[in-house]
Amino acid sequence: MAAVPKIYINGKYYDQPDAKISVYDHGLLYGDGVFEGIRIYSGKAFKLKEHVARLFESARSIKLEVPISEPEMVKAINDTIALNNKRDGYIRPIVTRGAGSLGLDPRKCSDPQVIVIVDDITMYPPELYESGMEIATVSTIRNHPNAVNPRIKSLNYLNNILAKIEGIQAGCLESLMLNHKGEIAECSGDNIFLVKHGVLRTPPIDAGILEGITRNTVIELAKLASVPVEEIALTRHDVFVADECFLTGTAAEIIPVTKCDARAIGTGKPGPITQQLRAAFFRMARA
Ligand code: PMP
Repeated sequence: MAAVPKIYINGKYYDQPDAKISVYDHGLLYGDGVFEGIRIYSGKAFKLKEHVARLFESARSIKLEVPISEPEMVKAINDTIALNNKRDGYIRPIVTRGAGSLGLDPRKCSDPQVIVIVDDITMYPPELYESGMEIATVSTIRNHPNAVNPRIKSLNYLNNILAKIEGIQAGCLESLMLNHKGEIAECSGDNIFLVKHGVLRTPPIDAGILEGITRNTVIELAKLASVPVEEIALTRHDVFVADECFLTGTAAEIIPVTKCDARAIGTGKPGPITQQLRAAFFRMARA
């Protein structure tokens, strides 16, 4: 039988069934908090420093003071991986606003909760990584940057969940979201890349997206492989006429997209640059 996962809450470890927080926590009541998703490859958290930096930036942006420092968070994460004896898996650090009253005022929350969950994850069926997946453009647009900025990885993921529901209703496991200007933003839980005439293209951060750590890694790997990269405003037209398309995310890793809105992309099969970047990504992750 698999061992019961040990969950970190505020410096203590609990067996998963005993890992509980208050029903008055504003993380639950209002989605008031932040989180991260990190992969463990060969016993090591991938891009840990970058994920912890983004977690603290998300917290700062919502004026949430994390009760531990960045190095303490890194240690809490590494200790939780070691305690759970994970070689390959997924880490979910969470910081909630803490328990308050039944009103929005965050000043009434005095005990932010720091939680670290280590578990397994499989995002998409393995065969889709070989054949490519189908996505659909949905009518729910990505949050306006002046509402909840998509750069904040907040506990309120309803914008993305609404998009996900529409995608599922269209028979797709991932949904393509436009921004308030009608440009391509990102998918419900993944960033998007296109390849056109040998150039890798992806929406810029100011399209209103999460600055994906896998996205940044792929850009870095493309540059190392002398594949030109453009961070540029894109429309559905660019998707329809692209030679290749793929999505990136910590959980999804790099997954080819071969159909969008029932139209084949390129040859309808995962393309060579997608394959090349996937191989380079796994070489780096497992190094
Ligand atoms: N966009 C959104 C909305 C996400 O939630 C995620 C993470 N699942 C990503 C992009 C990919 O980011 P990362 O590569 O840092 O996991």
